[in-house]
Amino acid sequence: MNPDSLTERIVTELDEIQHSRESRTDFLNLPINPILVFYPKDKSDVIKIVTVAKKYKVPVVVWGSGTSLAGHLSCEGCILLDMKYMNRILEINDVEWYVRVQPGVILGELNGELRKRGFFIPPEPASSFLCTVGGVISNASGGMRSVRYGTFKEWVLRLEVVLPNGELVTVGEPFVKNRAGYDLLHLFVGSEGTLGIITEAWLRITPLPPEKPFTVLIYLERFEEGVEVIKRLRRQGTILDVAEYMDETVVRAINKHFNTNLNSSSGGVLIISTPPVYERRVTDVLDSLNLRFERVDEEEILSIRALSGVALKAEWRDRVSEDVVVPLGYLDVAYREIKKLENEYGVRIALLAHLGDGNLHPNILVESRDDERLQVLYDRIGRLAVDLGGSVSGEHGIGFMKAELLAYQINSHNGLEVLRIMSDIKRLIDPQNQLNPNKFVQLAWNLWEGRSGHGRGWIKTEG
Ligand SMILES: Cc1cc2nc3c(=O)[nH]c(=O)nc-3n(C[C@H](O)[C@H](O)[C@H](O)COP(=O)(O)OP(=O)(O)OC[C@H]3O[C@@H](n4cnc5c(N)ncnc54)[C@H](O)[C@@H]3O)c2cc1C
Repeated sequence: MNPDSLTERIVTELDEIQHSRESRTDFLNLPINPILVFYPKDKSDVIKIVTVAKKYKVPVVVWGSGTSLAGHLSCEGCILLDMKYMNRILEINDVEWYVRVQPGVILGELNGELRKRGFFIPPEPASSFLCTVGGVISNASGGMRSVRYGTFKEWVLRLEVVLPNGELVTVGEPFVKNRAGYDLLHLFVGSEGTLGIITEAWLRITPLPPEKPFTVLIYLERFEEGVEVIKRLRRQGTILDVAEYMDETVVRAINKHFNTNLNSSSGGVLIISTPPVYERRVTDVLDSLNLRFERVDEEEILSIRALSGVALKAEWRDRVSEDVVVPLGYLDVAYREIKKLENEYGVRIALLAHLGDGNLHPNILVESRDDERLQVLYDRIGRLAVDLGGSVSGEHGIGFMKAELLAYQINSHNGLEVLRIMSDIKRLIDPQNQLNPNKFVQLAWNLWEGRSGHGRGWIKTEG
């Protein structure tokens, strides 16, 4: 069908739903070229859009805030669903300890409301001030408190989802204990918009800690000192609320672009926050390693830390962030290997890390995405993590940029049969390949089978 007449037919059938015709870019400046953008106001709008899209075999991609960092939203000729008007907090239940929300709520705003009542949802991605609940569930996001509280996988109780065939279902229950059947809830959590469209979510909430945490900013001469701090504290059984690392390049970028005055050191800085009962243990460990540190306010220092991604982007527009995980015992090795790659390829790699859970964000600071070294480095760092027993993604997800690495990890750690099962699940739930096609598991499987070249050569972007 002629694309223009196709667009006209879709608009005619869905004329009561707000829409626009526009191209966009995501946070990485990757192009998104839909034929139409729809702004659903409720679940019935979503069902109508999915049903019409199915009829005309047009793919549907959901846009939360577009802050994904692995090409999750890229599309040519899709229908883009922008969830910004489905942004209501529907219920805060302080007896059952859950909150029920629409997916377009900004996570930081939701936590603001919860905090007023003495509760919060802890994982705290650094993008909380930008990203939506639908985005964090679909990416199973983590964040600055994952070292203690895990990722969003642990905080979703129940989801209402529109399936690719237009059916509305719920998975999970609004309480913690539930053994009814296969765990379909966690099939949707982290599925990157490839299996269903979340229209409502029940998230666990927990009370704010009763006491102000003990928080320090530690000045490191060497990265390895930071790793040693974490290892010693963990061996003692110290509970870490936060263990965040930023190297000197990151601190300088934040100071430059946000007018902050954070001190740094040649080996970067480590933020450690613990319940106050552990103050003595922390200071003893720091003294035993002769490390300089100062006491800081947790909220203030984390709000500065949260600016790092935006600051790096302001300084290096085309930088790309990795999201690898390595077991804590191999953090030193991973760091040394990354530094070797930096020298070998002559490309600066700034390091940010949720260090306490081994989640590293090496930022490859190229001047242009056309620089071929970018893809090579991205690939080598991903494989390094897998070879050290880690993962290609701790929280950002796979999109299309990491599909090849996903196949490498699953083949190395789990066996290809597992990737085949994952790919079969996509086919079962979305036989027409309607939702966010050609990414994530499906692309990984196709690349493995040599059926698709898409996913390689992703460095070309808009502008
Ligand atoms: C500065 C910065 C800091 C970041 N820090 C972190 C961090 O600390 N931890 C972390 O985990 N990530 C981080 N990220 C990555 C990103 O912010 C998260 O992955 C976030 O969850 C994406 O949310 P979003 O609303 O922007 O979703 P989008 O990027 O718009 O979408 C993400 C995925 O979810 C799908 N999706 C969105 N809504 C729905 C829905 N209702 N139903 C079905 N699918 C849906 C999309 O199709 C896409 O596949 C950071 C990003 C930036 C730019």
